[in-house]
Amino acid sequence: MAEDTITMQDNVALRRALIEAVAVRVIDHVDELSDLDRAIGDGDHGLNMKRGFEEILARLDELADKPWPEALKAGGMALVMKVGGASGPLYGTAFMTLGKALPEKLDPAAFSAAMSAAVAAVKARGKSDAGQKTLLDVVIPLADQLEKGELDPKAIRDRAAESALATVPMLATRGRASFLGERSVGHMDPGARSSQLIIEAVCEVLEGWM
Ligand code: ADP
Ligand code: MG
Repeated sequence: MAEDTITMQDNVALRRALIEAVAVRVIDHVDELSDLDRAIGDGDHGLNMKRGFEEILARLDELADKPWPEALKAGGMALVMKVGGASGPLYGTAFMTLGKALPEKLDPAAFSAAMSAAVAAVKARGKSDAGQKTLLDVVIPLADQLEKGELDPKAIRDRAAESALATVPMLATRGRASFLGERSVGHMDPGARSSQLIIEAVCEVLEGWM
């Protein structure tokens, strides 16, 4: 009983730290994300994401108190409602699918399977895949890493940084950036960058926790 209580309190504290770190990281990069979107889109990605993650921060206590599946489903729903644009439904789908796919008791295999399910759901929702200069170019490599059993947060955030950078020379063939054709080449995809920021924030909290 006492041990259960401690584990539960740990989980709430860790969940709170993770959710808060992700939200703060995205909000802190509002200008960078909007600048990236101004180059190859309509310049709203930073504000879209900020609106969504401010809602997450406003509901931090409530979300942190829920078990992971419920917290992710509720958080994903909030992002769908608040972020808007193309990215809102995609991020919302990703987090809601993670929540639906995760068992209450987390383990690496379950987390990897849930991440693969989330990636598949985003692909279906966006009718998109790897190599089209979108956030998928960061989250597909993450799912691949997890599937191979990579659990080192440093290796995971290094790969996310490489993956976001690798979108610079890509030609966009999905989303607003695809309207630019060849002119989309030479800029980092804003959604790839926001996905990297989210992954990085999660990894940094876990590194500090371990
Ligand atoms: P909008 O394009 O409606 O203005 P945002 O600016 O908030 O929405 O988000 C743009 C980002 O959404 C892109 O940088 C890209 O990563 C992602 N995105 C857009 N369309 C798709 C798609 N079909 N599949 C995957 N990701 C997409
Ligand atoms: Mg935009």
